[in-house]
Amino acid sequence: MNALDLERMERVNLIGDDERGFDFVRIDDVKEMEAVKLDHTGVLTAYLDITPTALAAGKTRVELKNLIKEKSATIENKKERRLFENAGAEMVDYLQSGVLPGRGMVLIYVPEEKLWRAYRLPVPFETRIAWEERPYLRPMLLLMDEFEPYGVILADREKARFFLSYLGEVAEYDIKVEGEALPKRAGSGWSEANYQRKVEELAKKHFKNVVNVARKLAEMDGWERLVLAGTDENIRRMESLLPKAMQEIIAGRFNAPIDANFNLVRDRVLEIEAQREREVEKERVEALITRARKGERAVLGLTPVLDATQQYRLYMLLVPADFHTPGWHCTQCPGLVSEVDHPESTTCPYCGAPLDHDEDIIDLLMQRAVDQEAILEVVRGEERDRLLEEGPIGALLRF
Ligand SMILES: [Zn+2]
Repeated sequence: MNALDLERMERVNLIGDDERGFDFVRIDDVKEMEAVKLDHTGVLTAYLDITPTALAAGKTRVELKNLIKEKSATIENKKERRLFENAGAEMVDYLQSGVLPGRGMVLIYVPEEKLWRAYRLPVPFETRIAWEERPYLRPMLLLMDEFEPYGVILADREKARFFLSYLGEVAEYDIKVEGEALPKRAGSGWSEANYQRKVEELAKKHFKNVVNVARKLAEMDGWERLVLAGTDENIRRMESLLPKAMQEIIAGRFNAPIDANFNLVRDRVLEIEAQREREVEKERVEALITRARKGERAVLGLTPVLDATQQYRLYMLLVPADFHTPGWHCTQCPGLVSEVDHPESTTCPYCGAPLDHDEDIIDLLMQRAVDQEAILEVVRGEERDRLLEEGPIGALLRF
């Protein structure tokens, strides 16, 4: 791949492994859906659990059918109801098509425009549907916001391969970089020193090219972390040629031959990610609890976190995975109220406007956090219980 190709490079296909392969959802895919807005209700979105056990037991279809039935009963307009029911039936049919790769799926359907999208993700979702004027993207966007895309470069002195790890899955970029062939030593008439110099020159050129391709991929797919693979010596060479910003995001390194099996690369990368995620969670939960105890710009508990959110003070929101709690959202301002802390609420404590009840306010809270550009930490590992006990949720504050 030469410099010209690099400039033309727009999107590179990703190849997952055959058993568990899935379509990586990339920012561009979602942007297209974010732009969809009708002037009336007519977009059906479904979040589904498509783990093999749920699919095999028929659980996914039954749950979807029930949700459609429930929702249908609430639609008063006859024409709209028929549109909705037909759209729902088509979705249920789609789920009959056997085993699907991935663990979670988001289906979006705009029946009047015959617009249809299916996103498969490696993370399961709780089953839910939305029938609105636009696609209901929040749970998917929150997930994308939380997970860091990892880029992986595997290189030797002549070749290079590139991988993307995102949302717990790994795929290989469908490009291969190869340096110029080594000159033949025999009959070249070069002295050993000259020959070695030539070999070295070509390797240098190759590694520079590798780094350039990596920079381009990092930019396209928003790599937030980097893993380097190869021999120790080749890893060192790549590292020294990387721009500073990329050196700073190196999350790990591992030894592997250039023709390493895909599964080996995947397992090593996921190991590095899991290790890093555990460390980060531990540090963050520790910082939260220590600082909250000292009253140093940190809060624990539902209402203190909701108050800080309303005051736009969030620096980082920490939530235990799969934690939900009921409450209300204000019909006028971004205010959220916990039912656990304030069971008798009727009006917004921030502005006095009426409240609307929600089965779960954590989802909305996470959205508010993202809106104020706070970091989202969903604690999934062993620190989860500690946070639940001390919190159940917490936040580090900007001021
Ligand atoms: Zn309010």
